[in-house]
Amino acid sequence: MLDSKAAVQAWNDYHVTTYIRPDFVIERGQGMTIYDDQGHEYTDWVAGIAVNSLGYGDKGIAVAIAEQVSTGVIHTSNLYHTRAQSQLAQTLVEKSFADRVFFSNSGAEANEGALKFARRVAYDSGNPDKIGVVTFSEAFHGRTLAALSLTPKEKYQKPFKPMMSNVTVGEFNSIESAKACINDSTAAVILEPIQGEGGINVASDEFLLAVRELCDQHQAILIFDEIQCGMGRTGTLWAYEQTPVTPDIMTVAKPLAAGLPIGAILCTQAVAEHIHPGDHGSTFAGGPVVTHVADYVVERISQPDFLEHVAEVGAYLKERLEEINSPLIVEVRGKGLMVGMQLSVPVAPAIQAGYENGLLLVNAGTETIRFIPPLIVEKAHVDELVEKLVSILESLND
Ligand SMILES: *Cc1c(COP(=O)(O)O)cnc(C)c1O
Repeated sequence: MLDSKAAVQAWNDYHVTTYIRPDFVIERGQGMTIYDDQGHEYTDWVAGIAVNSLGYGDKGIAVAIAEQVSTGVIHTSNLYHTRAQSQLAQTLVEKSFADRVFFSNSGAEANEGALKFARRVAYDSGNPDKIGVVTFSEAFHGRTLAALSLTPKEKYQKPFKPMMSNVTVGEFNSIESAKACINDSTAAVILEPIQGEGGINVASDEFLLAVRELCDQHQAILIFDEIQCGMGRTGTLWAYEQTPVTPDIMTVAKPLAAGLPIGAILCTQAVAEHIHPGDHGSTFAGGPVVTHVADYVVERISQPDFLEHVAEVGAYLKERLEEINSPLIVEVRGKGLMVGMQLSVPVAPAIQAGYENGLLLVNAGTETIRFIPPLIVEKAHVDELVEKLVSILESLND
């Protein structure tokens, strides 16, 4: 394999450059720490974008992968049964509102499937005008074309127009706006109970209740995108559990297998009844390796003491961030281990300074630093983070 210097060069020369990257190469990881090719250490507050919820080097994941690989079967397609896929479906149904599950390979793909499910339900209503989809400001639902159509960011959409038609964008957390957008021609309403990429914005209970009621009134399917906020991140297994509302469909992905690619569409029986053989499919989705790992991850994360740990360290993180006395901080917001710190200036220099101070940090929008660490993070890591952030913010303010 390439040495690390050649690897940076080869990426620059041969890969399509849709990402801007720092110039180190990740070599290995353990617990909360990533090590680069130069022997530098970074405490990871990004977790591969809220994916690596068990951190690095988790023994149970290695065992689960080895168990399935040792059978000789790493792929079957969805033409056949496997124990691993059935087990994960059962586990997810037992641990959520859902009656049924359909697997995908990524978050965007889970949202695409959820949209198809909702359109299928609307189709069966016999109302040919029932094709609308409502999304909200600052939402992020993925990069494929339909998911991008629901991600109302001009910069992301403009070069790729036309988007999917019949999409209406409401204002997040505005009941008035939801009322104006949702009507009898609405097939689906999609929202993140806590917006991730859009800046860590928490949906209010009143807003969610109003949206739920409007969906019921107009027979629209309510989809919660828990791809970032689900799977323990907020201190309960699912974010909706801390709201007064249950969706009809929930999409899950990022941390579901704690690092292997998987997504899932969880839905009620009332939705699933409308989906028939041939309506949807995937060659790779729900394969035996990834579903066996995901089942281990769901069982680990749903343990009450694991979730308590998330809630406790999350509350400590928010409290310590709120205590930082810097004129650059506008607001700290979020739930559990999904916390945003909005600054009055762009955060890119702070993220760069993080690399120099042994921290992996990520933005959400241009002015918010987003803290979405592995869920195994300890209070001592929070203390280290806060100490380093204080000096980074001071250097930015000079
Ligand atoms: C990341 C993300 C997606 C897209 O997931 P991919 O796996 O990147 O396709 C969709 N919705 C939310 C809320 C996300 O955070």
